[in-house]
Amino acid sequence: MKNLFVIIGGDAAGMSAASKARRENPELEIIVFERGSWASYGACGLPYYIKGDIKNIKDLIGIPPEIFIEKRNIDLRLNHEVIKIIPEEKKLIVRNRDGNIKQGYDKLLISTGARTVKPNIKGIESGGVFALRDMDSGKNIKNFLHEKLPESVLIVGGGYIGMEMAEAFHANGLKVHVVEFFPHVLNPFGTEIAAVVENHLKDFVQLHLGKYVNTIMETDTGNLSVQVKDKKTEDYQENIATDMVLLATGIVPEVSLAREAGIALGETGAIAVDEFGQTNIPDIYAAGDCAEAKHTVTGEPVYIPLALTANRNGRAIGSTVGGKTTTLVPISGTAVVKVFQLEVAATGIIDIELAKKSGFSPLKITVDSHSRAGYCPESKPIKISLMADQRSKKLLGASMVGEEGIVKRIDIIATALSGKYTVEQLENLDLAYAPPFSPVWDPVLTAAKVLNGKLNN
Ligand SMILES: Cc1cc2nc3c(=O)[nH]c(=O)nc-3n(C[C@H](O)[C@H](O)[C@H](O)COP(=O)(O)OP(=O)(O)OC[C@H]3O[C@@H](n4cnc5c(N)ncnc54)[C@H](O)[C@@H]3O)c2cc1C
Repeated sequence: MKNLFVIIGGDAAGMSAASKARRENPELEIIVFERGSWASYGACGLPYYIKGDIKNIKDLIGIPPEIFIEKRNIDLRLNHEVIKIIPEEKKLIVRNRDGNIKQGYDKLLISTGARTVKPNIKGIESGGVFALRDMDSGKNIKNFLHEKLPESVLIVGGGYIGMEMAEAFHANGLKVHVVEFFPHVLNPFGTEIAAVVENHLKDFVQLHLGKYVNTIMETDTGNLSVQVKDKKTEDYQENIATDMVLLATGIVPEVSLAREAGIALGETGAIAVDEFGQTNIPDIYAAGDCAEAKHTVTGEPVYIPLALTANRNGRAIGSTVGGKTTTLVPISGTAVVKVFQLEVAATGIIDIELAKKSGFSPLKITVDSHSRAGYCPESKPIKISLMADQRSKKLLGASMVGEEGIVKRIDIIATALSGKYTVEQLENLDLAYAPPFSPVWDPVLTAAKVLNGKLNN
């Protein structure tokens, strides 16, 4: 029995794998190398730490290192960066504060996560320019807010981290600009849903849609001047004065170690894995934000880096390495984000062109409904986009927005996608009803009814 399991990266995927492998096999030797000084942390909570809802950054730690080391017998080594994988020798080269060491393995998991895309902006290295990816970057932003007392921020990117951080900065009293390259914020959620978000944002944020940041300049007064240009009109140019800039321009999988070791990447650029999370090199696995996963709807490999996928796939690989072979489950990319008072969510495929590329004949509808019975004074509007394939009549995906009740509804659709439901099956679900929670026809059922009617026309 091979008995040394080595893991690169000590967060969601890595520590889930380590813990599950330990539960499955008390005899296994497990080493985790983490290049930073934090492990098992909840990066997802960082916007709320910066906002001020979470007072102490240490509260974001899921399980403290000493529990892994002392209670779970996992050799977690912080401040150890793996700098090379040598598959032919089944060895790693690891750099720590004292120099480099060589470490063998029997089974290896790469769970190195992702890194922020660095856009091509002149002056990007200026002081006061930040990105939010990990605990240290979160702390840096928080310290800047406390020490420099900035009055304004410009966020580059209107994706979900940009939106969460707009709320966090606004709560700290900053004037917030958001510059987004696409015509809409939250592009993957669909234009109908994004339009509602943009209307809501007007009260809190200055939006610059279809624009990009060209240059960041430090001024004599110690703040920044950001040159914003228009995607379409070359002669448009605006200089925005700001005290800080946040780059929220997306992420790419952290695959440099894997690539150099000859591990195959998929078309998405993330590490390609089989149904057990194994790469093209035997005994080397990959999970989390550095790896691909299989999509529920298309069956194709996709790169949708989210926390549950990292935790679940890490756990499955830990189980397999521990002796209980476990397959990875497909994902629908179910996501939800809070944007000030709004809840915005999506699951499956909601982009018509993407659906066509995957061989579907998509039909999409958007309906307006309410979170509660119409006569309830607290009832809030809900907008749902639902998409299905016209040939099979199966659901492809949905996105939705509203002030309440969004999460329960997107989870219904996510469940239906896992069950490969047709729109009619969704329409026939027996969902709970009472006036404070939904109309008699829940917005999900209304959307399914409308879409089903069109499919059968
Ligand atoms: C601000 C923010 C908000 C988010 N909000 C949400 C949310 O609301 N919902 C959601 O589903 N997801 C959210 N996410 C994404 C979620 O945090 C990730 O999907 C999840 O953390 C991925 O886990 P992972 O273990 O694959 O990678 P990571 O959490 O990135 O961990 C990888 C680890 O590997 C280490 N590492 C990398 N290279 C090496 C090396 N060579 N040697 C040693 N160690 C190395 C890194 O230091 C890091 O600790 C958010 C992310 C951020 C940054």
